[in-house]
Amino acid sequence: MVVADYDAVNQELANARLADGTPIPMCELVRLACDAHILPGVYRAATQEMNLGRRRRTASEAQRAALIYRDRECIGCGASANRGFAHHVQFWSDGGPTDFGNLVLVCNKCHHSIHDDNWQVTRDPDANRWKTRPPPDPFPNRGIDTTRPVQHNPLLRN
Ligand SMILES: [Zn+2]
Repeated sequence: MVVADYDAVNQELANARLADGTPIPMCELVRLACDAHILPGVYRAATQEMNLGRRRRTASEAQRAALIYRDRECIGCGASANRGFAHHVQFWSDGGPTDFGNLVLVCNKCHHSIHDDNWQVTRDPDANRWKTRPPPDPFPNRGIDTTRPVQHNPLLRN
């Protein structure tokens, strides 16, 4: 993924870079766009709808592009962003909106961990990014010895 700013004064793309922030020359941006047979997409905050609310469940292309740029990889395991899904932090089934601030990028495996195994999505304020963590331990170690008594049934020995 390649990102560039739009210089409104000069009406041209500027500051081309890879999704991880590595700068690339503008001639390289043009070459990549030509090789891919695409025209550069320009996403303007004023015209691109980044907050779709409850009108639409799936993320828009603009939202997905912004997610890839912001999260850079699966927030759970670091898998490539190219395989990522847009996940609603507050679940859609719980009334969560399809707003950019409620979406994170996760791979298929981590998406299942969240929905099937109750993994949590939390925001790390120090690193200013989202991450996943296992569900809270329902049986936290409180220092109580839970070792089972020795089995004395002779039939179960050996
Ligand atoms: Zn993952």
